[in-house]
This record gives sequence, C-alpha cells and structure tokens, in this order.
Amino acid sequence: EEEVLGAGAPAWLEKDRRYVWHGMVTYAAAQNPMAIVEGDGAWVVDAEGRRYLDAMSGLWCVNLGYSQPRLAEAAHRQLTTMPYYPLTNTHLPAIQLAEKLSDWLGAEYRVFFSNSGSEANEVAFKIARQYHAQRGEPNRWKILSRYRAYHGNTMGALAASGQFERKYRYEPLAPGFVHVPPPDCYRCPFGRTPSTCALECAAHIDDVMRWEFDDTIAAVILEPVITGGGVLVPPDGYLQKVKEICHRHGALMIVDEVICGFGRTGARFGHQRFGVQPDIVTMAKGITSGYLPLAATAVRADLFDEAFARDEDYAHLRHVNTFGGHPAACAVALATLDIMEAEGFVDRARHLGEVLAAELQRLRGIQVVGDIRTFGLLAGIELVEDRETKAPASASLTAQVVSECRKRGVIVGKTGDTTPGGNNVITLCPPFVVSEEELRHIVHVLEEALQAVV
Ligand code: PLP
Repeated sequence: EEEVLGAGAPAWLEKDRRYVWHGMVTYAAAQNPMAIVEGDGAWVVDAEGRRYLDAMSGLWCVNLGYSQPRLAEAAHRQLTTMPYYPLTNTHLPAIQLAEKLSDWLGAEYRVFFSNSGSEANEVAFKIARQYHAQRGEPNRWKILSRYRAYHGNTMGALAASGQFERKYRYEPLAPGFVHVPPPDCYRCPFGRTPSTCALECAAHIDDVMRWEFDDTIAAVILEPVITGGGVLVPPDGYLQKVKEICHRHGALMIVDEVICGFGRTGARFGHQRFGVQPDIVTMAKGITSGYLPLAATAVRADLFDEAFARDEDYAHLRHVNTFGGHPAACAVALATLDIMEAEGFVDRARHLGEVLAAELQRLRGIQVVGDIRTFGLLAGIELVEDRETKAPASASLTAQVVSECRKRGVIVGKTGDTTPGGNNVITLCPPFVVSEEELRHIVHVLEEALQAVV
C-alpha cells in the first residue's frame, strides 16, 4: 500500500502532477494542490498532516461534515444487499427517497434521478420543452436565465450559465438560452438603491418575454440566491414576482437548489424562504452531503399528470443514465435527510447563519470590504479597491486573501466569475456541524487575511 502521509507524500504528489488533470485552476495552481487524506467534522487534513477548517464544505456540498459514519454504513449496507439496478425498472431506495423529497418540498412531485447538478438541469430543460410540446405548444423552447448564474458545465447547463469565462473557448453551446441581468443590489443594473428598488430586475423578465415572444419561452431557471456568481441575495419580492411573470406568460419556473437546498439557507429549500412553489426543482450536492454522487429533478405532480401520464408514442421522457439514482447514493441521501431531521440541522444552519452574519459585521471597517451578503449559512464578502466608486478589487487580490486564509489553516472560496463585481467575492459555506467557536475562528482568520493584503 502506498504511504500517503509524511515521507510518502512527495512521491504521491509528483504522480498527481504527472497524471491528474485538475479543472478550474490555472496550470501553475495545479502544481500545488491541497492533497486531502482525512476529514473530521468541519476539518480536513492534508498529506503533510496540516489541518484546515473547511469553510467551503468541499465544493459547497459536505453539509454534514467529514465524519458521519451512518452515511458510510448506509452505502455499505446497500452495496452488500443490492449494489445496482437501473431505474428503467425500480428499487426501494429510489422509491423511498422520491417520497421523502416530495415531503421535503411540501407538495407532490415526480422525481427523476441523475448524477450531478449539471445533469439535473439538463433534464429539467428537456422536461420543460417536452411538457409544452405535449400540451400543443412545440414552439416553447427557449430558457431564460440570469447573467452571473452558474447552472453547470455541460453544453446546455453551461449555456444557461451567465459567466462568460466559463464558456469562452467552448462556444457555441446549446442554442435557445436568453439571459437577463441578475438581482445584484450592491451594483444594481437598473441604478437603484435598496431604498428606491422597484424590482426592475424582475420586471425586465416580463419585457424580455414579450420581446422574445412569449410563445417561444419554455421556462425560467434561477437559483433562490445566486451562489457561485457572488452570493447575490435578491431583494424582497423578487422571486414571487418572477413566479407571477412566469405564470402570466405560461413559462415554467425551474428553481436550481443544487447549493441552496437541504438546509443551506436555513430552510429545507431556498425557495421556501420566499414562499414560492416552483414547477421544477433541481438538486444535487447536499442531497448526499457530498458522500456519493446523486442529483434529482422534481416536477410538480399535476404537471407530470397533465403532459406525461399518457401512453402515446414519444410521450415519455427519453432520458436514461446508467448511474442516476444509484441505490447506494439513494441510501446515503435517505440517511442524510434522516440525520438532518433527527438532529435538527435545518434549524441549526439557520441559527449558525445568524451567528456568522453578526460576526461578519466586524469586517465592515476594513478598507477593501465593499459589501457583506449573507443568507442562511452562506456568505459573500465583496472586495473593492475603492468603497466610494465600488471599483472591484482585482482577481489577484482576492486570490491572495484565499491564500492568506489557507496559510492560517482556513479554507474559504472565491467566485469564478471574472466580470466586474464577479471575481472579487470571498465565499463562505461551512458545514452545518461547525461550532460557533469555529465560525468565529473563520471570521477572525478572514479578518487577519484581509488586513494582510491591504
Ligand atoms: N447548479 C448550481 C447552482 C451549482 O452551484 C452547480 C455546481 O457548483 C451546479 C448546478 C452543477 O452541479 P455539478 O457540479 O454537480 O454538475
């Protein structure tokens, strides 16, 4: 067996440089990855034995932290009973999980399982188009989305995303995606301030639907809070207004809960904090607390009954994936939701979010801190060169802050969007098992890191 710790580590990392291709990091950064070998609670340990407090839950997903033996046991039990069968037929873990998700969504939904958030969104787009076609409106094929949003890396999900630097060099992507400005209250695209806000960002969707001809619009996709695009918390009433606009124009509302779902926002799902019931909900990441890959696309049961509960040729969804709804992943998801219910993790996330928001206020005095946004146990700290002009801090300054935190044993994130106001946001998305003291430590280290770069 290879020695992964201590003396064995350099050889092991040399092989990484030679054989493994790391995405989303520059060639230079890929020469020096963190090599994580263990985890415990909110902490991870690298090959040299350094411990890091992971304020990003891996990639916004390890909500229950790194040491939940029940999740591993659930996978083991399932793998030793019935390791695999495709969902063109059925199995018990998928049935139980679909019922449980409906319960968490607070209404009856039909659930289609896949493997990643990207795929869950691709499935949502296909379902939206097919839904309209089967109701006699085959021209409804366009999907509206927001600039700054991230919905995944496959050709359709990337087309829905609104960050050019993830798309550049891969275009042309899937046709039929139309973008509108995001609700970004710090840099309002409509020149408003929170006190003069008239929800133009939502009203604009109404205009675009008419300009595009609403008979061609299949759906709007949106996250309750744009996460990877800078933690953009919408103004009060935004989601409700978008829902009303969708309804008026006959378009479906797809809510991407890949990050916001499963307690992250202090509710079971982010949209529940805004009191809207989506037509389609997409989920991944926290559904298994990151322990195994799984995603789901949930469609309101009445929409399913209306368009898909028929026996004509081509009336069924023509989408299958080998591993979607893998029994072990479903078993882990069920255990994740059980633990969340039994141990009150949704309420805990809400409470910790309040603690984090209060702690973060300390950073307001630091010269480069332009805006602090929080929503549940999620935060974005937008860095600026100048607080008056709001000139965004450079990508390198933001990267330095991340690196200064890492040097001090805390992992924070930054958003990947390099549009103005996009590359300069430090993100926090700690596991729900983090203690209040650990939260204070994260903010303390971030404060030191910010002071180190100004
Ligand atoms: N949707 C949102 C909001 C995301 O943040 C992500 C990933 O970060 C995705 C979709 C894509 O999920 P995946 O990486 O599992 O394909």
